[in-house]
Amino acid sequence: MKAKEALLYEKLSHKMVHCHLCPHDCVIPEGKTGYCGVRKNSDGTLYALTYGKVVSIAIDPIEKKPLNHFYPGASAFSIGTFGCNMRCKHCCNWTISHHTATEEGLDLHDLSPEEAVQMAKDRECEVLAWTYNEPSIWFEFVLDTAKLAKEAGLLTVMVTSGMISPPALKTLLNYIDAYRLDIKGFTEEFYERLTGSPVLKYILENALIAFRSGVHVEIITNIIPNWNDSDEQLNGLARWIVENLDAETPWHVTRYHPENKLTEQPTPTETLERAKEIGHKNGLKYVYIGNVPGHPGQNTTCPECSKVLIDRKGFSIGENHIHKGCCQFCGYKIGHYRGPDKPVKDHTTPFPEYIL
Ligand SMILES: [Zn+2]
Repeated sequence: MKAKEALLYEKLSHKMVHCHLCPHDCVIPEGKTGYCGVRKNSDGTLYALTYGKVVSIAIDPIEKKPLNHFYPGASAFSIGTFGCNMRCKHCCNWTISHHTATEEGLDLHDLSPEEAVQMAKDRECEVLAWTYNEPSIWFEFVLDTAKLAKEAGLLTVMVTSGMISPPALKTLLNYIDAYRLDIKGFTEEFYERLTGSPVLKYILENALIAFRSGVHVEIITNIIPNWNDSDEQLNGLARWIVENLDAETPWHVTRYHPENKLTEQPTPTETLERAKEIGHKNGLKYVYIGNVPGHPGQNTTCPECSKVLIDRKGFSIGENHIHKGCCQFCGYKIGHYRGPDKPVKDHTTPFPEYIL
């Protein structure tokens, strides 16, 4: 596939370019890439190196994203490429996410937006998901694919750490149905230590933008022992979600496993149970324990009558007792629930596209 010129950048003097895609706000000299490693300045023009380049393709249950209140049981045609604009010490996909500029050592496939959508349809997936690496830095490809996916009647899901500039995010959100956002912790110091950059304020701003746009939002926090498992961090984050999004926003607290540069032991189940309790104490109605197969904290429970509405075993689900967005047993309205009998609506106030 021919190299694709990037969107959202400015040409500067001396063949420099200024990329406006994410908060890193890179000024990139000729011949170099930005922090993400996948947007390269060649002779004064910025190119999106990963446009139409796919490293991973899989059909995943939507529960694996994880999304628990969005079309439970749906199949998500999931695609990802390489590169990232964070350098998380515990990244489980670091072999692709921390790969930069060169395609060497990667099993890359060409895939056009048209082909991606057609493959999802052919495989009878309801959902197209950009995942595995950070889709924000795949901006041009995600945008083109998302537009076609919506025309083809697919649901669209971004699995993201939220490192994107607000204009770029708003442009994408016009075509996105669910935004699964990673808020990794609750202090700038923690973000800097774990990801290499103190960018929490940008992530929180983007959470607000996505939430207020009417897109379905679920938040995930991977709990790492001694890093972000203090009562202070967990209370801070849970309170922030309740006060700035709402009490019905699902929050996934997931077990960490040692990966990449972190060697701490896996998160004890008790820590995740404490995090769930902290979430509920702060008012959150749906807090899920993830990466602990068989744990009852994976189930969706009615906040009113306490009955199990969706029983989850790993990524598979039992019967769904949510009917038209309400508890089948007591009629309680389950917030932020989307499914075949309660479909997503078109966004009421589309954002203007910000394409420089
Ligand atoms: Zn109920």
